[in-house]
Amino acid sequence: METVRTDVAIVGAGGAGLRAAIALAEADPKLRITLISKVYPMRSHTCAAEGGAAGVIKPDDSLEHHFNDTVGGGDWLCDQDAVDYLVQEAPRELIQLEHWGCPWSREADGSVAVRPFGGMKKQRTWFAADKSGFHILHTLFQTSLKYPSIERLDEYYATELLVDEGRCQGLTAIEMRSGQMRQIRARAVIMAGGGAGRMFPFTTNGAIKTGDGMALAYRAGVPLKDMEFVQYHPTGLPSTGTLLTEACRGEGGVLLNKHGRRFLQDYGMSPETPLGKPVLKTMELGPRDRVSQAFWHEQRKGNMIATQWGDAMLLDMRHLGEKKINERLPLVRDMSISYMGVDPVTDPVPVRPVVHYMMGGIHTDIRAATPLAGLFAAGECACVSINGANRLGSNSLTELLVFGRRAALSAAEYLASGARQGDDAALESGAQGAQAKVRELIQRTGGRETLAGLRREMMHTLEQNAGIYRSGDGLAEACAKLAELRRRYAAIELHDKTNVYNTDLLQALELGSMLDCAEAVAVSALERKESRGAHQRLDYVERDDARYLKHSLAHYQGEAAPRVDYLDVVITRSQPGVRDYSGGHE
Ligand SMILES: Cc1cc2nc3c(=O)[nH]c(=O)nc-3n(C[C@H](O)[C@H](O)[C@H](O)COP(=O)(O)OP(=O)(O)OC[C@H]3O[C@@H](n4cnc5c(N)ncnc54)[C@H](O)[C@@H]3O)c2cc1C
Repeated sequence: METVRTDVAIVGAGGAGLRAAIALAEADPKLRITLISKVYPMRSHTCAAEGGAAGVIKPDDSLEHHFNDTVGGGDWLCDQDAVDYLVQEAPRELIQLEHWGCPWSREADGSVAVRPFGGMKKQRTWFAADKSGFHILHTLFQTSLKYPSIERLDEYYATELLVDEGRCQGLTAIEMRSGQMRQIRARAVIMAGGGAGRMFPFTTNGAIKTGDGMALAYRAGVPLKDMEFVQYHPTGLPSTGTLLTEACRGEGGVLLNKHGRRFLQDYGMSPETPLGKPVLKTMELGPRDRVSQAFWHEQRKGNMIATQWGDAMLLDMRHLGEKKINERLPLVRDMSISYMGVDPVTDPVPVRPVVHYMMGGIHTDIRAATPLAGLFAAGECACVSINGANRLGSNSLTELLVFGRRAALSAAEYLASGARQGDDAALESGAQGAQAKVRELIQRTGGRETLAGLRREMMHTLEQNAGIYRSGDGLAEACAKLAELRRRYAAIELHDKTNVYNTDLLQALELGSMLDCAEAVAVSALERKESRGAHQRLDYVERDDARYLKHSLAHYQGEAAPRVDYLDVVITRSQPGVRDYSGGHE
């Protein structure tokens, strides 16, 4: 097997992976950095982000406001020391992007423009029209090209971490165009593999978001933290799940039920805001969990409109006018016309809540270090945790930058402390084992299960039982079903047994990742007998700080269901309180 030797291997070339690579190259030009990605970097999901990135920049805002919004929005499950680090570092990172060429949108006086975003009580979301992620990723990608020490392995699929002597020392990856397995020996690994929303049938997530990074770390013995917290974004297109950014509401769009009523006022979310004004009151800009839950209640009351894809509410932007829509929300207009045949300039657009983001992920400390020596994690695959039980829109892009850089600095410190390559023979045998598993999967015959069949059952189970509202019975059913699906996964057979770009093989491996992550979601959700943020239980409707002001940690147990234990939340100065969105923005 061909071996690549490097100092730091980074899995993932989205926002988090690229930011980490640049920080490493800057920290020490002598370090060899290998960036591994299953897609060309610009196809990473970060590219799809629309709305923007949060960071304090305006004189009426403060780090304390950003801290309080994030901690309250996360229903007090965030680690407050990590949130402090995020809000302090955010403005520097966003200005750094500006210096690298990111074309942030501007106010008339030339200063950086910011827009309101859900759950943020001040305007602090930097944006580049509604293509913020595209511009951020482009900026990072082109900057990374300056550094000769960053070697890229594009279209390589990571399959396993190599662990020896209690340290992560590299990984195995399939070169997709040849089907050959490579071992990548590294003194440290940074996992930046992104989210796992594809476990669900309706999602804003791109097809590559299958939780591989989480699954790789989990199987190597690192717990997955807070996996029960899955974010629904209130405004996806019912036909495809494609996102219409929260910026639609930030710019003044409103949500209506079938009677034309702005129904959020009936769910504890503030007085009416006059049409045509930016939405500075919280009604449409309540946090995502609350707005999605309000949809669920309205649906049960029969107040939603019926579409051929199921019930939907209406997102009305007509009063913004064509000029503003074209300037601030051009992609939203394009997508509404292309995917729904509706022009937001003339008609309200049907939307529904769709799975958007995983608050949970690989357990790391505030330095982005996992409990496994030599393994660091950042971005959506990691849980540091700054998002708690519910992420606020526009904090994720900021998190990628702040903690992507932090993971790089921690990895560099780890290398400087003398981390060396371990026993060659042991690593070689680990890599051979990984290769043998993939060969067996390709060559297997007589399998009874199909990939598409298992995937459909997994998605259906999660949608039915682990969605916006959950119950003990439903979650128990999901746990049993997912355990069964993991067993049946051992009997899938691939149609394509060739080597070159074998997408059948890659999808099978992705399904394996999703099943492991899905089980961690369901088991963690069943164990958490309270309602908090995005985890709402019909049988335990109250938040229970006495028992559950804690992070869940799901530990991989091979074929058995994961074991869940708990870790205290870091509280520095904000004691749990009531999440109040009735007062309006300041
Ligand atoms: C439609 C949409 C809009 C959004 N809008 C916003 C917004 O406006 N503001 C905001 O803050 N957040 C937003 N988010 C959330 C945010 O964009 C994501 O959380 C974030 O971009 C994730 O970045 P990442 O670097 O962690 O992962 P990604 O950008 O998803 O990159 C993951 C990388 O890992 C690689 N990878 C994965 N598995 C493997 C494997 N097995 N082998 C090799 N490589 C692998 C992929 O190739 C890819 O390069 C949005 C999300 C979506 C889906």
